[in-house]
Amino acid sequence: MSDKHDAQRMEKIVSLCKRRGFIFQSSEIYGGLNGAWDYGPLGVELKRNLKNYWWRVIVHERDDVVGMDGAILTHPEVLKASGHVEGFSDPMIDCRVCKAHLRFDQLMEKNGVKQCPNCGSKDLTEARQFNLMFETHVGAAADESSIAYLRPETAQSIFVQFKNILEISRKKLPFGIAQIGKAFRNEINPRNFTFRSREFEQMELEYFCRPEQGMELLEYWKEERLKFYENIGISLANLHVRNVPDEERAFYSKGTYDIEYDFPFGRQELEGVAYRTDYDLSQHQKASGKSLEYFNEETKEKFIPHVIEPSAGVDRTVLALICDAYSEDQAPNDKGEMESRTVLRLHPRLAPVKCAIFPLLKNKEPLVAKAKEIVNLLRPHMTLFYDESGAIGRRYRRQDEIGTPFGVTVDFETLGERDPALRDTVTLRDRDSMTQERVAIRELVNILTSRLH
Ligand code: ATP
Repeated sequence: MSDKHDAQRMEKIVSLCKRRGFIFQSSEIYGGLNGAWDYGPLGVELKRNLKNYWWRVIVHERDDVVGMDGAILTHPEVLKASGHVEGFSDPMIDCRVCKAHLRFDQLMEKNGVKQCPNCGSKDLTEARQFNLMFETHVGAAADESSIAYLRPETAQSIFVQFKNILEISRKKLPFGIAQIGKAFRNEINPRNFTFRSREFEQMELEYFCRPEQGMELLEYWKEERLKFYENIGISLANLHVRNVPDEERAFYSKGTYDIEYDFPFGRQELEGVAYRTDYDLSQHQKASGKSLEYFNEETKEKFIPHVIEPSAGVDRTVLALICDAYSEDQAPNDKGEMESRTVLRLHPRLAPVKCAIFPLLKNKEPLVAKAKEIVNLLRPHMTLFYDESGAIGRRYRRQDEIGTPFGVTVDFETLGERDPALRDTVTLRDRDSMTQERVAIRELVNILTSRLH
């Protein structure tokens, strides 16, 4: 596909997200806060479905992983020990002409000369390191002693609580601690919609093991994570695994895979799966003076476990889900003429609304009453949307555009007016194939729940 086509596709996706209430610019009525986004009624459902599914497969369906939820405000010593205070920075350059702050790797290069990507100027400052952490002060005094940071990743609170969790959960190696939560990075140049934000969420697992298991578990988790993306409906053809070469890896990592996705704006990282050796626990043990060792009761040996870290971005995955699901095809309107339709082919497991309920006509009381009965029947089992306004074709289109996988229409057959055998049956429409089947109302819960998981 051409760059122009991809740019148009991205524009349509951003506009759909706003128009239908998936994602809004944060503080929009005040001009917007760069790098911050608010999720609207549909976006929050999609995001929750993603997080719940991750939690289900990583924590609930396994015996060897437990969860935690750490504080966002972080003690400076934690981030000194982890290396973030000293080294969590990107090289920054300023353009002297248009005053843009740029990340070194975002500069354009023409005939070997670096240029500003905004105005083309070659008048650039030298690169200097810019720390990405947000610093704040805790309590009334705003001096050195009160500095705290908004966490730049969720992982460090897991390492710091490792000993507590090990003791109370009585887990044996290998075992993991999982966390989903907000992280903050003062990115020099937030861009590509929600892809690079300053406030975002991560889904992180720290999976602790014996040193000799590290390389094998790195492969295992890479495969597990790929399966996850397939199970949420992301096409494997758009996913790529990059084996990060030695010179790009952190010095303590023995192996890292980046799982990348083909976004309309290019191939970019969704998740990193890194074998971090015993680096983090060793650093915290050294800095805190508290033992973070594991005691093997059988062999009586004491050692610092190694760790594999699959670290995924919630917002990036939501964006990948929307990009992957977005499609345009042809569908007949109420007069049977073909029209183009926009459809989000989200996996039913992730779709914000699972089923829409439509009475064929809003001014026919028995149709409306029956449709509302169905709403009450289905409500305990799934998210629903009741819609009685406008032509039925238009109502279908509105649901297609937000990815609702099923639509139930109550018509005159439902009332048994034409054929008593069809009394209490409805049409069940499938979003992707647009086919309709006639099903009994009493079967609806079973049919729908079996197709949603
Ligand atoms: P990048 O190279 O794109 O800045 P990273 O390698 O620094 O990412 P990690 O530190 O490995 O990212 O963080 C793990 C995951 O957290 C990333 O794979 C991504 O999904 C998510 N993430 C990191 N930074 C951001 C951001 N600024 N906005 C949204 N998600 C982010």
